[in-house]
Order: sequence, then structure tokens, then C-alpha cells
Amino acid sequence: MSRNKYLRQLPKVDEVLDQEGVKELNVAYPRPLIVDGIRQLIEERRRMILTLPDSELGDLELSAPSIASDLERWLKKQYAPSLKRVINATGVVIHTNLGRSILSDEATKAVVNAASGYSNLEFDLEAGARGSRHSHIESLLVRITGAEAGMVVNNNASAVFLALSTLASGKEAIVSRGQLVEIGGSFRIPDVMRQSGAILREVGTTNKTYISDYAAAVGENTALILRVHQSNFRIVGFTHEPTLDEMVGLSREKGIPIMEDLGSGVLVDLSKYGITYEPTVQESVKAGVDVITFSGDKLLGGPQAGLVVGKAEFINRMKKHPLARAVRVDKMTLAALEATLREYLDEETVCKKNPTLRMITMPAEELESRAIKIAGELSRILGNDFTVCTEPEISRVGGGSLPLAELKTTAVSVKSSLATVNEIEEFLRGNEPPIIVRIKEDAVLLDPRTIQEGEELQIFSAFEKIKARCR
Ligand SMILES: *Cc1c(COP(=O)(O)O)cnc(C)c1O
Repeated sequence: MSRNKYLRQLPKVDEVLDQEGVKELNVAYPRPLIVDGIRQLIEERRRMILTLPDSELGDLELSAPSIASDLERWLKKQYAPSLKRVINATGVVIHTNLGRSILSDEATKAVVNAASGYSNLEFDLEAGARGSRHSHIESLLVRITGAEAGMVVNNNASAVFLALSTLASGKEAIVSRGQLVEIGGSFRIPDVMRQSGAILREVGTTNKTYISDYAAAVGENTALILRVHQSNFRIVGFTHEPTLDEMVGLSREKGIPIMEDLGSGVLVDLSKYGITYEPTVQESVKAGVDVITFSGDKLLGGPQAGLVVGKAEFINRMKKHPLARAVRVDKMTLAALEATLREYLDEETVCKKNPTLRMITMPAEELESRAIKIAGELSRILGNDFTVCTEPEISRVGGGSLPLAELKTTAVSVKSSLATVNEIEEFLRGNEPPIIVRIKEDAVLLDPRTIQEGEELQIFSAFEKIKARCR
């Protein structure tokens, strides 16, 4: 067997460790990882010796230096953070796959501060005794929304789950058939209800539900009237849903609490900025809804969290429920959320400070002038074999929020005779940092709306590399 000859050529781990380049790697990488890498690279070669056809065996690089030179690439791949920053050039503001909302400067600072030192997370500094982690957020939530009480949990899905478990376990909750939604990632209202122990009492039809349908469904075992915001879809045409006031009226008349899952939960009226109207949390509070739940990282533009506001009677029961511990937020989230909410105290400036609101309300002229600048620099870098231009396009709010809102933008379109659009997209995605773009027909589109300050330079340098590769 000539294969033994090749197997004998494989170096020992120590031999590779003694290579000049490998000693340098010891500075940047932990030694156990280096040893593991060498073992794996040797093992890989051993497998190839045993499986490759005879004719290809001669091409194998088996020497210690060849393994040493593969080692650095292996280590880089293993040791690089898996969760990394990417550039979102898609124009989708609340991009769920890219981490939804990004934090404001103040919120980012607050996270670092809370993470790197001890804090009064559950310590009342005035009384010198144990405090509540809910206390940090509650007064802000109350001030901003006008509600009696508030609390925060891990995300809106857990807020809904905790509310249903507290208010309707073993009892009926009435929901319109038009609101039995799936939010994505397997969050389906009927399934969440079943898990919480609440019994779903469907009323009405997909397109039409009247207040009389709700009224007729109320019985001995009814514990809750549930209203769910149709976040990510719309039913249009021959439709009817009772108004919020009608539903609160029924809830009062029958003495049954009403809960609303608002989904996005916007705190400022976006229609003032020319954006599709989205019901605000304050309106639901004012209408008298008992428990309102919404996300921290959708239109609110904060960290992942589930916010609950409403009547103290119900919120206090939720705080005491055994599940509250299982869905509680950590101090970094609380720090980010507190800073985010603080910026809402001034409605004039929040749209500038909060990145999600800033991107959604970015003026069309600003987007156009940024697109023109980016396109100018890219055509200078890319030269004649590429076509770079600007074109009117639509950005999306994303995150299952405002599905019909079309935000006017100006995108930069890039195509080339030297590379296909898929090759360009793939190269940008493999860049450090990865750049995520949209593809439209035979061009990649870069939307300045979601490109952050300073990221333009990284985009330019990625295209310089593309240009060099195409040469
Ligand atoms: C997004 C959404 C949820 C889930 O919220 P998360 O914060 O992602 O857990 C629940 N209900 C509605 C109506 C939503 O839009």
C-alpha cells in the first residue's frame, strides 16, 4: 500500500508547534485551541490520504510548514465572534434578522455602565433594603403612557404569555377570528393561549367581527376580552372590527377586563411625520384598556423587551405570578430601556436621538443627498466596468410593523459587466464587516436610510476590494 508512505509523511503535533509562524500565533490565540487546530488539520489530511484516488495523492501538502500556514486561517474562523456587527444597507429599519432596533448613544452607554459595575438593580438605596427591579422603569412608563402601572419582561411574546397566564388561566378569553395572528418564529396567538392555560373563545369571522359577537360570547367562564393588533398583515375590503371604545365599553358593562397586544407599541404619533398612522400606546391607555403589551425593540427603538402598562390591580398580579421570574429582564436590558424611555420625555428630540425613529423619519432630501454622495464615490472607485446610479426606491419599516408603509428613499444601484449581481451580493456579505444589501433585477441596491454614520467608508473599501478582484 503506497498510502502508508503518505501517512508516514504526516508531521507530529509538536513539529508543527515548533514552526516559526506558529510561535507567533501563541500571542493571539489560546494554546489549547492551537493544539486542537493542528490535530484537526493533521486528521483532515489523514482522511484525505485514505480516501482520495491514487492519482491525486501526489498533490497533497503534508509538511509541517503547510499545516502551519493553514492554521492561522483555521484559528481566525474558530476564534472570530459568531455574533458580529454588520452593515444594514437594505433599507429595512427594524430588520428582525439583523437584530431589530439599534440603541441610541445614551442607551448604549447605559448598557456598558450597567454591565461593567455593580448596580442598585434590586437594592433600594434610600431605604438600604431590598428593592424591585421593576422600580427603575415603572415611573418612566407611567409618565410617558399615562397608565397607572407598568412592568417589563423579556419580550412581548412573554408579556402576552404572562398576562394570559395571570388573567385567564383555566378560563375563557374572547378573541376575534380576524386577530388570531401568527407573528413569525412560531408565535401564534392560539398556541400561546393554549400554553398559558387560557381557553380560546373565537368570535366573528376572518373579515367581520361585531361588538355584538363579543357580547354574545361572554358567559360564566369568561375571564378576558383580548384584542390583538394585526401587526404584519392587513385585511382589506369587506371588513369590520369594533372600535377600541366599543370594546372597552363592553368590558366595563360586563365587568370583564380587556387586554390589548399592541405588537409594535409606538409612543409617538407617526402620522405627524407623514408616516402611516399606527395606534399609540397612549391612546389605548386613554381608552381605558386594562392591560397593554408591546415590544421594546420594534417601533419603540430600544432593547429586546416586553412592556406591560395598565391598571395597577392587574400589573401587580402579574409581577407576583411565578412566571414573572422566568421571563424577567436582566440589568443590561433595563439600563438600555431606561435610557431609551428617558429620551421619550421630550417628544421634540426623541425622533433625532432614537435611531429607529430617526431612520423612519429621515427626510427624503437628506436620503437623496447621501445617495448621491455614495454613488459619486463608488463610481470613482469602480470605474468603467461598473454602472453606478441613484434611483427612487422604497424603504420598509420592517419587524412586522406598518406593513403597508412605503418610505420614499433614494437607493444607490450598482451593477457590473465583470461580475453577476449574486457574486457582488455574496462578496459584500462575506466582507468584514458583512454588508447586507438588496438585489433588484441585475443590480445590488444600497439604501442610505439604514447605513450608519461612518459605515460609508467601510462600504467604499469593500467595493475597492471587489474592483481589485475583478481586474
Ligand atoms: C411582534 C409581536 C409580538 C411578539 O413580540 P416580541 O417582542 O418579538 O416577542 C407579539 N404580538 C404582536 C401583535 C406582535 O406584533
